[in-house]
Amino acid sequence: MKQATEKSGLSRRQLLAGFGAAAATTFAADAGALPAAGIASWDMTADVLVAGSGGAGASAAIEARQAGAEVLLIESLPRFGGSTAMSAGVVYAGGGTALQKKLGIEDTVGDMFSFISGAGGRHPPLEKIRLYCEHSSAHFDWLVAQGVPYSEQLYSGMTVPMQGESLYFSGCEQAWPARELARPAPRGHIPVARGMTGGRALMAALLARVEELGVKLQANVSGQRLIVASDGRVVGMQVTADGVQRTIRARRGIVLASGGFIHNRDMVRDYAPELFDCSVPWGNAGDQGMGINMGIGVGAAALRMHQGFAIVPLYPPEAVLSGIVVNASAQRFVAEDTYYGVLGDAIAYHQQGRAWLLTDQGGHMPAQVDNFPLVAEGNTIGDLAEQLGFPKGALQNTVAYYNRHADNGEDPLFHKRPGMLRPLQGPPYRAWDLSVDKAFAPAHTFGGLHTGLDGEVFNSFGQTIPGLYAAGRTSAGLPGAPYIASGLSVGDATFFGRRAGRAAAGKGTPP
Ligand SMILES: Cc1cc2nc3c(=O)[nH]c(=O)nc-3n(C[C@H](O)[C@H](O)[C@H](O)COP(=O)(O)OP(=O)(O)OC[C@H]3O[C@@H](n4cnc5c(N)ncnc54)[C@H](O)[C@@H]3O)c2cc1C
Repeated sequence: MKQATEKSGLSRRQLLAGFGAAAATTFAADAGALPAAGIASWDMTADVLVAGSGGAGASAAIEARQAGAEVLLIESLPRFGGSTAMSAGVVYAGGGTALQKKLGIEDTVGDMFSFISGAGGRHPPLEKIRLYCEHSSAHFDWLVAQGVPYSEQLYSGMTVPMQGESLYFSGCEQAWPARELARPAPRGHIPVARGMTGGRALMAALLARVEELGVKLQANVSGQRLIVASDGRVVGMQVTADGVQRTIRARRGIVLASGGFIHNRDMVRDYAPELFDCSVPWGNAGDQGMGINMGIGVGAAALRMHQGFAIVPLYPPEAVLSGIVVNASAQRFVAEDTYYGVLGDAIAYHQQGRAWLLTDQGGHMPAQVDNFPLVAEGNTIGDLAEQLGFPKGALQNTVAYYNRHADNGEDPLFHKRPGMLRPLQGPPYRAWDLSVDKAFAPAHTFGGLHTGLDGEVFNSFGQTIPGLYAAGRTSAGLPGAPYIASGLSVGDATFFGRRAGRAAAGKGTPP
């Protein structure tokens, strides 16, 4: 292939573009890309077109506009804000943010980098992580400057603060093995809001800024296919606007910020089967994978498409973490006191989606829980084992081993932290089903287009596709499996969305 390319005098990019154009000409009705030559007249024109109005799209639009571009932001649904507006709005930031400093939290870029790069999956995107860690403090300042409201209150609990606090430990920093990688610091920055409405507050501020800057916004306009010039440059998008097919020309660039694909069940089954059985597709209805598919349609590479966020939110109450979680062989397999994204990942990806929490008289779930079905109850561990159909004697051995060491304040297998580590104390014993198809187990996707530090989209030969950028869950960014901390997704979407918007406008990267 290399030789053929060199002999013909064409670059691989040109070849790919040629194939794309040829395919579009031949199979115009269903091809992934459309040739610009076939467009007689454009329905709309902008310098930069952004597809998707969540955290990534709004941030891209703001930066592109501030770089002097005329920006059109389209949204396939009737309402703007995407999954970001549904979210808690947590942004993972550290290394000494203004809020951390105000609250007396010591943190360094190095500790943050060690945590993100070491606590998650293997071979993470180190360049992106490093850049993010170096600039997350400035990015937090930018969010504040856009009008995102934060309080000066620290929360000491493990879950999303509900009383207006704005900083907390949003991940597995204090659990083993992460706590040995780096000094733990609270880095979850959450807009001041009651309950789970932080994302609404964050998007209200970003969208207000978008409007104030004069970005053109259009709802009910859904990107369908990219339009490619004969030299391979992406120059436009075919959309459906209120059901009618239209074309939009983008003079400088297009940013695909169209979220992930958790609501496209065929894509989830094909690309991320471990997420398919998770009981709750977690995202807004626009998460159909259209941005990713438009990119693939013009030859973009997609990375880590099997990865995602599978959550088993055991806590609150934190008291249940003094129980133990076991698999179908009645073995422990994870530190119970870890972040619920790490727990969910361990169950969904590594235990065929099946697990149970065992509690004793001192650490039950509240009497009424919808999230985790109570599936066994008894006066002895043997009673539970029998009801659950575990291999003979296995659960008794697991509990005896755990109790023996917990009595000495030790957990040789998973080093559960003091305060949550104690022997199981006595009846009644209960088992709660954590299996991802039976329990409350939300999931969303992390795989997406292969992008560089400025959101430029690469083809499978590692070459950029001119005119095309992507950010947020349409791209493969910082979040991976296991998901180690709340805030990495919205942090990544807004940070790299900004860079993509500025690059698409042709002005390089934000300071
Ligand atoms: C309940 C909940 C809580 C969460 N809490 C957090 C949290 O606190 N912190 C965190 O980091 N993550 C959180 N997440 C995950 C996080 O919200 C998302 O991963 C992130 O917001 C994705 O941002 P985005 O900009 O890439 O996509 P989105 O915010 O989903 O925006 C994409 C937009 O593109 C639109 N779109 C799709 N296709 C097209 C098309 N073809 N043309 C035009 N528009 C299109 C969609 O309708 C959508 O509005 C949470 C998720 C949920 C569901």
